[in-house]
Amino acid sequence: MRFLLLSDVHSNLEALYTCLELAAGKYDKAICLGDLVGYGPNPNEVVDKIRNLCKVVIRGNHDKACCGIDDAAEFNPYARMATDWTRQALTPKHLEYLRALPMGPAVMEGFIAVHGSPKDEDEYILGPGQALPLLRGPEAQLVCFGHTHLQGGFTLNEAGRFQSIRIPATPDGLTLTVPLEDTTRYLINPGSVGQPRDHDWRAGFAILDSERKEVEYYRTPYNVAQTQAKMEKAGLPLPLYRRLELGR
Ligand code: ZN
Repeated sequence: MRFLLLSDVHSNLEALYTCLELAAGKYDKAICLGDLVGYGPNPNEVVDKIRNLCKVVIRGNHDKACCGIDDAAEFNPYARMATDWTRQALTPKHLEYLRALPMGPAVMEGFIAVHGSPKDEDEYILGPGQALPLLRGPEAQLVCFGHTHLQGGFTLNEAGRFQSIRIPATPDGLTLTVPLEDTTRYLINPGSVGQPRDHDWRAGFAILDSERKEVEYYRTPYNVAQTQAKMEKAGLPLPLYRRLELGR
């Protein structure tokens, strides 16, 4: 089975469509690791698309805030403005869909899917401080997570060697394939579709092949100017659309 892993789409329809074009024909089942909405200009269109495409969708912190399950108290002022804008823009049907999204982990065949971490859906796995206890703990051998908007992840092998998965800056398309060893533990982040923060503005996603036992990481340029123009027109804060072209 080939699983398409999408995360942190953040209402960015141009990035989502470009990723789906590149992924077309390459996967059997699509999964979304949360944060469908927040920040970007097309929340309804993105919810519609993800809802029809993905067999499994778990909620992210922005999904919770935008549908009113959570207040946006921990968000910075720009993110909070975008949250308020998104809540107003979402149709009642889509608000209801977001409210009903399950919290991770979602247990899949051979791995688990979470937004933040298996222990806490809002936790950021940014480095060894958060990754090592999880890789050494009782969690699944393979955990797919999002939330940080940093494509890659972390591994711990049998000999106790810890490594970060580094994504090369080129080429466009398939940038890296990581073979999955039976005796190594993995935290895999497919990257953010709609708002990458690893200093690479290209939209990111991954495909997990459970038979060949490998993860493929993809990066693709998309029409970022179009997304930015829509955000400007919608009155979303300037720093939120500037950051898209910077990838941070
Ligand atoms: Zn996010």
